[in-house]
Amino acid sequence: MEASQNPIPQSAMVIMAHPDDAEFTVAGTVAKWTQAGCKAVYVLCTSGNAGTHEPGMTREKIAAIREEEQRAACQVLGVKDVVFLRHDDGTLQPTLELRRDLVRLIRYFKPEAVITEDPTALFYGDDYINHPDHRAAGQAAIDAVAPAAAMPLLWPEEGEPHRVRQMYVGGSDKPNVWIDLSDTLEIKIEALRRHKSQMGEWDPSEMIRKWAAETGKEKGLAWAESFRRIMLERPPRAKS
Ligand SMILES: [Zn+2]
Repeated sequence: MEASQNPIPQSAMVIMAHPDDAEFTVAGTVAKWTQAGCKAVYVLCTSGNAGTHEPGMTREKIAAIREEEQRAACQVLGVKDVVFLRHDDGTLQPTLELRRDLVRLIRYFKPEAVITEDPTALFYGDDYINHPDHRAAGQAAIDAVAPAAAMPLLWPEEGEPHRVRQMYVGGSDKPNVWIDLSDTLEIKIEALRRHKSQMGEWDPSEMIRKWAAETGKEKGLAWAESFRRIMLERPPRAKS
């Protein structure tokens, strides 16, 4: 039943603010899709170049470490391409420049689905204020998908227009799609562990399992990720 309700796209682009954002949130779905043959690409708006408390670390050094960790995580997930836009960590804004960068990449890779973060999420629960970079990346990604990437007269020098068919917004408080992670939760945890500079001695597995169980509970799934999915244009096979 799940397959008919949640058709797996043939290609997908994951747009996130920082290395590790996708592994904390949506990577179980990414792994599920790549296992089914989906060609996936990651786009990181920043390289997390402020993401350290280690004395003596520089922006350049931590960015290089985190890019390498993201590539390693992508290898675990079966994601072939990773693009780093290298905006500064901590000051990301949903500018026209960022939107245009994303339009260029969407027109180049032509993904059927785009996954991003929820720009409307300010708080999670009673103990987390969402990072402004996450909101900025999500806003720029959504604005790039619709309508910008599909508009022939907008930035024609950035490539042929492309219409993304499915927009998946992770971390939404109004989810409408639950993805069963029975087969890929462990892969998600393995990929997250590749972000060693962010984990330190901490083992993320317990927290990730707890989140996945809480998310799945509502739909009778042992493990799940949930999304707000916007179907921008239904594929011909879904029309009656
Ligand atoms: Zn982040």
